[in-house]
Amino acid sequence: MPTNAAQVDELRWKKIPVLDDGFVCLVDVMGDDQAVVQAARVSYGEGTRKVSDDRGLIRYLMRHRHSTPFEMAEVKLLCRVPMDTWRQWIRHRTANVNEYSTRYSLAIDAAQRTPHDQWRSQAANNRQGSAGMLPTEVGAELSLTEEKLQEDARKLYERRIELGVAREQARKDLPLSTYTEAYWKVDLHNLLHFLALRMDSHAQLEIRDYATAIGEGIVKKLFPLVWEAFVDYRQNAMFLTRLDVELIARLTAHVAAAGKATADEADFMAVQDPTWVDMARNRERDECRDKLVRLGLLKL
Ligand SMILES: Cc1cc2nc3c(=O)[nH]c(=O)nc-3n(C[C@H](O)[C@H](O)[C@H](O)COP(=O)(O)OP(=O)(O)OC[C@H]3O[C@@H](n4cnc5c(N)ncnc54)[C@H](O)[C@@H]3O)c2cc1C
Repeated sequence: MPTNAAQVDELRWKKIPVLDDGFVCLVDVMGDDQAVVQAARVSYGEGTRKVSDDRGLIRYLMRHRHSTPFEMAEVKLLCRVPMDTWRQWIRHRTANVNEYSTRYSLAIDAAQRTPHDQWRSQAANNRQGSAGMLPTEVGAELSLTEEKLQEDARKLYERRIELGVAREQARKDLPLSTYTEAYWKVDLHNLLHFLALRMDSHAQLEIRDYATAIGEGIVKKLFPLVWEAFVDYRQNAMFLTRLDVELIARLTAHVAAAGKATADEADFMAVQDPTWVDMARNRERDECRDKLVRLGLLKL
């Protein structure tokens, strides 16, 4: 019997709400933490290993990116998601997908709406991101016009259907906020890869909400040891480049020579990588700065 049988019973078909009308739910799962361990120990069998050994092995595999044992477990989900978010989700090619067909059936009559206090403003320093909220007065207008556009688009769609237009053509002016539904099956290795990318702060908030629901709401419960290792070695880990490592060595020496406890921005700029020096803005330097702050080596 799988070690996660009780959790599977509890989670199966239980819809975890996401956004205003979306959800994810577990349909099926193959394997548990033990499946990962068993695959890694294929030559030994289960034997008399203890849970503490299993935990150590899983952590070793995750730390050293031994991926195939994690591919021995699989998770099948059902999700209901707006099409713009789905468009990002579907880029993960290593999953198996079956999506609701709007050629065959009427498009789902639901579109994601943004509340008046949830309109994000364009980030100034990251073209792909948002930063802060727009004033709620502006948000009120945006939410009102969104509602009207969605209602008009739906009426037009239904009118086309009434007039006999094929569903495959009638749908073309439905907004990207329209919800779709899909079965999504993926092995645990590729699911963790998806979660690492889509739970990250660089991912768009909407897909981050889905990824968090899957990660925290499902994977964590089904694979507690794998999840713990994932959080420690992927999610909350830090990748240091050669440039970062060399800069840290220079910075530590620089600060020690100056008799200071921690470095400040001027120290950081004084020892920055030579290839960054002439650049007013440099993304890699910004990323390096963030890492040093997180490590407590730099105070801004
Ligand atoms: C924050 C963020 C911003 C993004 N911005 C953009 C953007 O502006 N424009 C854009 O087009 N996309 C963008 N993407 C999508 C991104 O480039 C990837 O397509 C997406 O994240 C899927 O990642 P993946 O290919 O690693 O995952 P999967 O498709 O699940 O693949 C997993 C791994 O399998 C291997 N793999 C799978 N298929 C192949 C293959 N055919 N050949 C070789 N190796 C393969 C690769 O190692 C890959 O990493 C963005 C993604 C994120 C997270």
